[in-house]
Amino acid sequence: MIDFTMNDILEAIPAECFHRSALKGLSYVARDLLLIFTIGATVHFTIPLLPSPILRFAAWTLYGFVQGLVGTGVWVLAHECGHQAFSPSRKLNDFVGWVLHSSLLVPYFSWQITHGKHHKATGHMDKDMVFVPATRADVIRSYGGNPSDFPPDEEMSEEQENKLYDLIEEAPITSLYLLILQQTLGWLGYLAFNLSGQTYPSKSRWEVNHLNPASPLFSRTDYNKILLSDLGLLIAFAVLVMAARTWGWMTVVCYYVVPYFWVNHWLVLITFLQHTDPALPHYRAGAWNFQRGAAATMDRDFGFIGQHLFHDIIEVSTSPPITLLNRKSLLIGPSSLSLSFFCFFFFWDEMADRGM
Ligand SMILES: [Zn+2]
Repeated sequence: MIDFTMNDILEAIPAECFHRSALKGLSYVARDLLLIFTIGATVHFTIPLLPSPILRFAAWTLYGFVQGLVGTGVWVLAHECGHQAFSPSRKLNDFVGWVLHSSLLVPYFSWQITHGKHHKATGHMDKDMVFVPATRADVIRSYGGNPSDFPPDEEMSEEQENKLYDLIEEAPITSLYLLILQQTLGWLGYLAFNLSGQTYPSKSRWEVNHLNPASPLFSRTDYNKILLSDLGLLIAFAVLVMAARTWGWMTVVCYYVVPYFWVNHWLVLITFLQHTDPALPHYRAGAWNFQRGAAATMDRDFGFIGQHLFHDIIEVSTSPPITLLNRKSLLIGPSSLSLSFFCFFFFWDEMADRGM
């Protein structure tokens, strides 16, 4: 069991990690926006010159992927704004974060609030806000079994083990289907229905979401911030509708919607890989403390993309809370939780291992 104090962690973090610079933050925003416009302008002027529909389709597909990478970087910058890690000015952070996240159809303050709660209670079975794992009993029940037929692992006979394995064994095709569903619609499902979050039995499924100011995800004092987040989304939708009326829906799909879904894919992949490895514990209330929860986050190495386009979000973030989490490797050693893999090879493994 991991045991160290907050002081141990804080002392292990280099002082420069706590230094925030508006100039540096804004320069990253400027760089990413310049990249987005340059890539957009390049395809605008070159794709129509391609001689066949197949080539044009391939070029648009490549564009969607590349623009999605840069868009994910913008997403990450807004995330840093939400942590107040972008600059020393709260007003600047919230303004930039609201504009950037709204332009990516993310309700800025709403997600900032639930995301803050996630960081405060990472790995807590009853308080974490996302990727809350199903308990063993939940999994057995979801496959139509009776949890009382299966004693704890160490007391199970071989026959019971086999019976459990047969019950919850997942066909690869089902895992693939769930993976595609998660990567395309998982983020929207989280925003709209709190999928993978806590359950609120006394509330209807339509009440628990990131758009409803009265949602149990928020407190009463958050009300206006949720409305402001919704306003950001409305403005973004209005701009998209105007663009579609001016240039056609297909233009909006090619330039915006496809990269938008790539951004969602990366976001889910990054957070999934950080929080769901079988090596990462989740703690019940009695065993949880902040340090243990914070350490239950796995660093990954995305190579060039992670370092230069995703702003190191998954390796070492510029956000003090995240930096704090990632710097844990200084304390508990790289062999335990700070692993370096190229993500795709084991993304599949983790989907298949998820207890499905
Ligand atoms: Zn964060």
